[in-house]
Amino acid sequence: MRWPDGFVCPRCGHDKGWVIRTRKVVDCKKCRVKTSLTAGTIFHKTRTPLLKWYWLIYRMATDKVGTSVAEMQRLLEITDYKTAWLMAHKVRKAMSDRDARYRLAGLVELDETFFGPPGHTRGRGSENKSTVLCAVSLYHGANGKPRPGFAHMRVVADASAKSIGGFLDRLGCGSDTDEGRELIEAFRTDGWKSYRTVAKDKELRHYRVVLRKPVDAGRLLPWVHRIISNAKSVIRGTHRGVSDKHLQSYLSEVCYRFNRRYWEKEIFDRLVKACVCTDTVTYGQLVNRKAL
Ligand SMILES: [Zn+2]
Repeated sequence: MRWPDGFVCPRCGHDKGWVIRTRKVVDCKKCRVKTSLTAGTIFHKTRTPLLKWYWLIYRMATDKVGTSVAEMQRLLEITDYKTAWLMAHKVRKAMSDRDARYRLAGLVELDETFFGPPGHTRGRGSENKSTVLCAVSLYHGANGKPRPGFAHMRVVADASAKSIGGFLDRLGCGSDTDEGRELIEAFRTDGWKSYRTVAKDKELRHYRVVLRKPVDAGRLLPWVHRIISNAKSVIRGTHRGVSDKHLQSYLSEVCYRFNRRYWEKEIFDRLVKACVCTDTVTYGQLVNRKAL
């Protein structure tokens, strides 16, 4: 998967090298740089056997409720929790980097939600909670009914028009110059004033649904609500809550699975491919992350 057409030197692009079996590296015949098969991937310098990694990747790709690190540590006989925790975060990084390339188009359902410790007041602007924007693109299925396409969730500073506008820009809206690329044309929300401002600024069609009771959201904005409730059960259930600074990674993981729900048979291969196509992240980088 790393070199589907054979070795390619990461420094000079030459396609021939000597394999030094004792050190598990390839020595480029032209520039003599030594490259390991795992350098530049999430497996860089790992001391855990790749087979254990593959089991973890398989579980993370297929478990709809998320994968508990403690359980995987036990099953895979990994000595310390920190190693297993770090491995899972590296896989999440690969998921997130892969999905960052996807854009949304057409009609988009959009809503915000809050993640954080229970017991605080609900609603917009709750303190001690992280604001999360969630978008799902819709297309017309064979029977004419709207079907969900891709989903994205993003931790943002607040539910202001500026935050929402920035989120939509990342997803494929407005000033993008890629020719022939489909863009977001319209969105459907609960009509909160920030959404109205964004609709005006970006000249997007805006469909407002009227939510009289919180339960209406599941019916009137069904897809964003499905993925939000999925994310909440993964984070509160399987992971027993996550800290603010890692929330985005867990949300990206939920979206990654949602976005590939029709490709069950290929999902393991796809995720391994994503893992070899992205740089790793270190323990230090993870623990020094800042919450938004
Ligand atoms: Zn070379």
